[in-house]
Amino acid sequence: MIRTRNAPSPTGYLHLGTIYQSLFDKAFALKNNGKFILRIEDTDQKRYTPGAVEAIYSGLDWVGVIPDESPKHGGDYGPYVQSERLDIYKKYAQELVASGNAYYCFCPTERLLEVRKKDQKEGRSPMYDKHCRNFPIDESKKRVENGEAHVIRMKIPENEKIVVNDLVRGDIEFDPSVIDDQVIMKSDGYPTYHLAVVIDDHLMEISHVLRGPEWLTSFPKHKILYDYFKWKMPIFIHTPLITDMKGAKLSKRKGHASVDWFRRKGFLPEAVLNFITLLGWSHPEGKEIFSFDEFVKVFDFKDLSAVSPKFDLVKLEWMNGQYLQKLSNVDFVKKLTEWLNYCSTTKYQGATEYESNWSMDDYKLMLNFLNSLNDEKRLLFAEINNQRIKKFEDLLPLNSFFISDFVLDENLLIENKSKEEISEHLDWVKGEIEKIEDWELPNLKKLEETLVKRAGEMNWKVGEVFHPIRVSIVGSTVSPPLFESIYILGKEKTLKFLNL
Ligand code: GLU
Repeated sequence: MIRTRNAPSPTGYLHLGTIYQSLFDKAFALKNNGKFILRIEDTDQKRYTPGAVEAIYSGLDWVGVIPDESPKHGGDYGPYVQSERLDIYKKYAQELVASGNAYYCFCPTERLLEVRKKDQKEGRSPMYDKHCRNFPIDESKKRVENGEAHVIRMKIPENEKIVVNDLVRGDIEFDPSVIDDQVIMKSDGYPTYHLAVVIDDHLMEISHVLRGPEWLTSFPKHKILYDYFKWKMPIFIHTPLITDMKGAKLSKRKGHASVDWFRRKGFLPEAVLNFITLLGWSHPEGKEIFSFDEFVKVFDFKDLSAVSPKFDLVKLEWMNGQYLQKLSNVDFVKKLTEWLNYCSTTKYQGATEYESNWSMDDYKLMLNFLNSLNDEKRLLFAEINNQRIKKFEDLLPLNSFFISDFVLDENLLIENKSKEEISEHLDWVKGEIEKIEDWELPNLKKLEETLVKRAGEMNWKVGEVFHPIRVSIVGSTVSPPLFESIYILGKEKTLKFLNL
């Protein structure tokens, strides 16, 4: 049975890497009739952040990568939260002590700091000096029974090369002299990641472990633990490190590491999924755009690359634009509404503040405006915006005149004409609009044609007759198509705005 898992720690906002790994896990499980498990690794209680678990579920729901087993979805291998499994870790840690593969360590922090300092001074990378490793076990046990503070450390075998295998990277050899006698049980009774991950992956019968490249250096410790327990190892794959275009880590400051940043920008989840599948993997037929179902059919862990892929935001924008353009107007409105609803009700989750000129209230206003339109106008709104934007956020500056006032820039309005000329022209347009009895788009389109003729009669360029109308209504020189916008805006507001 294929069983894959993702095991995030609830230590803050949802990192892009969690979605990235989960997507491969889920696809591989689906392809092989297996299961994808979500486990919450909260053994580091100091770093626990309230709300982080909810952010994990919300992000996975958003992209539609739903676990088959998890604390929320249940399953036969629970509990799926590590802090609810402390007795299990304790039992196995004691087993390791009993078999002589782990030992109690009583070194106080001050001593450990001194050892560290000495190492650093003498130019070695800091390592525990194994002070407690060879204490007679009976004595150590007595000290533990007497309540002395302690941790448990695993013994790293000395003088034996440790070879681990990664499905993509092949065999990797480690020199044991540079591996620390890792703490596996902390003094607070919590296991460290290293012990918990091995026990849980084994007991949850995980067949494939996909995880970030930062865990490669811990890999030999895990291999040793599997050997001590005499357990079969799952297949391991370490993903490549995703970098920005300059080869550096994804910027926390710019938000690129946070899933919520992409959601708030207004990228579609299907585009984000499609885009990240192509980081470290390529479609066998070289396709760029494909559905998740199609991806599932062709994906295999072994085809992942170990080479760091570059995260090209420009390409993501292009891809998202492609997805948007394929949407029907009905779907566009539906997704836009969902997005506005999300942004107007949910606070941003990232390493820093989200940079935007829009407040939660602004999103709400836009949502209310859309909801106030009848179906025909709402679909027209979709129609006139759909081809112009790469992501929903681009739509906001183009359409803000629908919901808020602006200070009219007279110079921009008048440009190379005189104030009188423009004023006269706008009065004429107003008069024509007043004459329209049935506020229907074809009638406005007729006015558009009349204006083109009028340009010829006045000896103005065509653009020059439209420019002041646009600026007085929109407040800028860019907007969705003018007469459609005027139609959506309504007669009353249009007349109100057509002034100098
Ligand atoms: N809890 C670890 C993390 O958040 C998981 C590592 C693993 O997948 O084994 O990075």
